[in-house]
Amino acid sequence: MTSAVLKKVSVFTVPAFLLVAAYFSLARIPVLSPAWQELVPSLPYTIIAAGMFLSFHFHRGRVLLVLLMVGLFFWSSRTFLQGGLADLRSMLLFHAFSCLLPLNITLISFMRERGPFTVAGRMRFCFFAAQAALIAWFIHNQRTGVLELLDRHFLSSPFFDRLAISQPAALAVVTGALLTLARAVRRQSPVDAGLLGTLIAVAISCNWLLAANVPLAFSSAAALILTVSVLRDSYDMAFRDDLTALPARRALNELLMGLGRQYAIAMVDVDHFKRFNDTYGHDVGDQVLKMVAGKLQGVGGGGRAFRYGGEEFTIVFPRRELADAVPHLEELRKAIASYQLRLRGADRPKKNQEGKQQRGSRGEGETVSVTVSIGVAPSAEGRKPAEVLKEADQALYRAKRGGRNRLSR
Ligand code: GH3
Ligand code: MG
Ligand code: MG
Repeated sequence: MTSAVLKKVSVFTVPAFLLVAAYFSLARIPVLSPAWQELVPSLPYTIIAAGMFLSFHFHRGRVLLVLLMVGLFFWSSRTFLQGGLADLRSMLLFHAFSCLLPLNITLISFMRERGPFTVAGRMRFCFFAAQAALIAWFIHNQRTGVLELLDRHFLSSPFFDRLAISQPAALAVVTGALLTLARAVRRQSPVDAGLLGTLIAVAISCNWLLAANVPLAFSSAAALILTVSVLRDSYDMAFRDDLTALPARRALNELLMGLGRQYAIAMVDVDHFKRFNDTYGHDVGDQVLKMVAGKLQGVGGGGRAFRYGGEEFTIVFPRRELADAVPHLEELRKAIASYQLRLRGADRPKKNQEGKQQRGSRGEGETVSVTVSIGVAPSAEGRKPAEVLKEADQALYRAKRGGRNRLSR
């Protein structure tokens, strides 16, 4: 239970670490040598440039947009706001940033990833550029009437009174943070976790805008969080299977290379899956693969699950004997066989044939289930992991020949 929660929140490790680092850097920046003092203000721009380069390269349009916003914010804060919020124009700029940044980041967290040069990517860019142009127009023409909207007081609470940002901005930050948090937990993607980190960083920057080096440190942190999230995302793309979110073949090969003397390897294959696809369609087949992958991920005994390819999976038990792994594999097999996957309306089968493995009653709340066959083999002196895997595969075929929904060794 706790390990499942830890797994879900581990995606936030890097953003949290960088935010804490930004906080501690606040005390260090003033004691840097004069040469460094001169260099530090260009730090956010440097990181933003690097992040933008990577975002272009990996077609991460959402990150690119947010990096542009952070850059615009940092540049404006140094160019127009360093002297304080002395006049209505700077007040307007400040409130526009503190309201619009969290709102836009939240909006972006709900968008799907699109390359910066796709139609959607360009339209998004235009949408945000239009906002910037509108604010610039308001400021240029002294239309400070919108201030009433951006700096509205509708709640009297000591919490809000202590903040520099307005109540609408604080509400945008709090609701935005909750929404992006939910989004990131659900999607488990580094970019979405990075968007939450960025939202927090810009909220801190806005609220302590005039405190020494806060925008500098936290804009740098935001840019770094986003840049690292692009890198982590592209690593995931290479090492993680898109459909099931399990580590993919490449990750398995790396683990196999680093295994010690003792381990066990299991091969898992869904029974009669071709027939299942033919009956219920590929979409339901995919849903089943996700369900199976979810069960595999929860396997006990220190087993680590991978998608080998198609409807075949591999589980590696590092530092375990075969006898240690078997009960966990049996438990897994039973859990999958007894799981009833509920079909949505659109998933109902078109053909009227049903195999033995595809039980399910017609009508409301129809469910389907599948079984898996498992072959497992132990490590042995002088045998390479690849050979042990082949043995597990042979054991799997024995399980299939023996009637399926069983484990062979
Ligand atoms: P057996 O019990 O002998 O394993 O029979 P089987 O039908 O599962 O074996 P076979 O290897 O002949 O068929 C595997 C099928 O798995 C073929 C393909 O239709 C399906 N499949 C492979 N990858 C995917 C996928 O990503 N999504 C879906 N929906 N189906 C897939
Ligand atoms: Mg197969
Ligand atoms: Mg199969």
